[in-house]
Amino acid sequence: MMRGRSQQPRAEIAGAGIAGLAAAIGLGLRGWRVRVHERSPALRGDGAGIYIWENGLRVLEALGALAQATADCHQGIARETRDDRNRVVARAQWTREPGKRVVSIVRKQLLEALAGRARAVGAEVIFGSEAVGATPEGEIRFADGSHARADLVVAADGVNSRIRDSLGLLRSRRQLADGAIRLLIDRLPEERESEAGSRYVEYWSGHRRILYTPCSSRHLYLALTTLDSDAEGKAIPLDKAAWKRSFPHLAALIDRIDDRGRWDRFEVVRLHRWSTGRVAVVGDAAHAQAPNLGQGGGCSLMNALALAVAVSGAESIEQGLSEWEMRERPLTEHTQRASSLYGKVTVLPPLLRSIVLDLAGRSRWVTAQRMRTAFHIPTGTRDAR
Ligand SMILES: Cc1cc2nc3c(=O)[nH]c(=O)nc-3n(C[C@H](O)[C@H](O)[C@H](O)COP(=O)(O)OP(=O)(O)OC[C@H]3O[C@@H](n4cnc5c(N)ncnc54)[C@H](O)[C@@H]3O)c2cc1C
Repeated sequence: MMRGRSQQPRAEIAGAGIAGLAAAIGLGLRGWRVRVHERSPALRGDGAGIYIWENGLRVLEALGALAQATADCHQGIARETRDDRNRVVARAQWTREPGKRVVSIVRKQLLEALAGRARAVGAEVIFGSEAVGATPEGEIRFADGSHARADLVVAADGVNSRIRDSLGLLRSRRQLADGAIRLLIDRLPEERESEAGSRYVEYWSGHRRILYTPCSSRHLYLALTTLDSDAEGKAIPLDKAAWKRSFPHLAALIDRIDDRGRWDRFEVVRLHRWSTGRVAVVGDAAHAQAPNLGQGGGCSLMNALALAVAVSGAESIEQGLSEWEMRERPLTEHTQRASSLYGKVTVLPPLLRSIVLDLAGRSRWVTAQRMRTAFHIPTGTRDAR
C-alpha cells in the first residue's frame, strides 16, 4: 500500500559513495524519503577501477543497478600472481557461471549507475553539502550551520567520517604499512584482443607490486602498491625509473602511465558499535579494510542493503539497527582479518613469499576463507534466507 509523503519515514545520508548511494536505493525501494549529502561538487571515483565479486553483483541486482553498473565491464576469467622474475607462482581460473563471478568496472561508472538509480527511486542527491555531526536522536548538522531531523541518519562519509567521530563510535583506526597508487590508462588493441591481455595479473617485486586489471573495453586499471616508507615508490607523478628498476619486464607498460594517479594508504577501521540511537555508520566509515581481497566496496554494498532491510522491517529503528549489526558484522570482520593477513606477504623475502603464495593458492581451506565473502549470499538479495 502506498503511503502519503508526510507519513513516509525520512533518512538523511552523509556521503554519496558506494555505501551511501546503495543505502539510499535500498531505503527508497522500501518507501523511505531519502536525501544524500555529498561534500564534493560531483561524484568521486575518478582514475580507478574496482573489482566487484559475486556478493556485490547480487546486491547491485537487488538494487536494480546491475545492468548500468556493469555495462562494458570486464568479466574476470583468470588471475595470475607473478614473482620478481615474472614467473607464475599462483593462478586462479574462473568460469562465467552465475554464482562465482568477478568483474572489474570503471569506478566512476559504478557510482553513476548507483546515483542514477537512487534518483529513480526518489532519493535526492545534494552536492556541496558537508555533514559535520549528528545526534543519536536523529539530528544531522551541516557545515553551513543548517541541520535536519530524520527517522534515520546514515553516516556513509568514508574513512575520515566526521559523524562517526562526533558520536565517539571509533574503537580503532590502524594505518597499515602499505598503500597504493591507482590510475587508469587506455588498453592497446593487442591487449583488448588477446587472452593474455584479458587476465588479471599481480606482479610482485620486493615490497612493490603492480596489479594489472582490464576494466572496460577501453580502460586498463593499474594499482601500484608499496610500503608507505618507500618515498620514491609512492611519488606522484610516478617515478617511472624507480618502478622500471623493480619491474624491467614491465618497462613498456610503465612508460604508458601519465602524470595522474593518487596515493592512498591502507587503513583498518573498527567501531565500538555500528550505530547509536537513530544513527547508523556504514561503509569505510565503519569497516575500512586493506583492499587485498577487493571487498571493501563489496562489504559496503552488502551492509548498506542489509541496513535498509533491517530498519524497514523492524519494530523500532534502534532494534533494527542492533539486529543489523548482529547479523552482518561477523562476516565483515572476517573479511577485514583475511584481507590484512594477505597483506602480510608484502614484507616477506621474495622466495618465502613465492612459497607462501603457492601454498595458499593450493590450500582449499585458505581459498575457502579468502572467498567466503565473495560467495556469500547477501541479506536482501534473491536467494538470501
Ligand atoms: C587502493 C584501493 C583499492 C580498492 N579496491 C577495491 C576493489 O577492487 N573492490 C572493492 O570492493 N573495494 C575496493 N576498495 C575499497 C573501496 O574503495 C571502499 O571500501 C569503498 O569505496 C567504500 O565506500 P564508502 O561509500 O564507504 O566510502 P567512500 O568511497 O570514501 O565515499 C564516501 C563519500 O562521502 C563523501 N564525504 C566525506 N565526508 C563527508 C561529509 N562530511 N559530508 C558529506 N559527504 C562526505 C566523500 O566525498 C565520498 O564521496 C579499494 C580501496 C583502496 C584504497
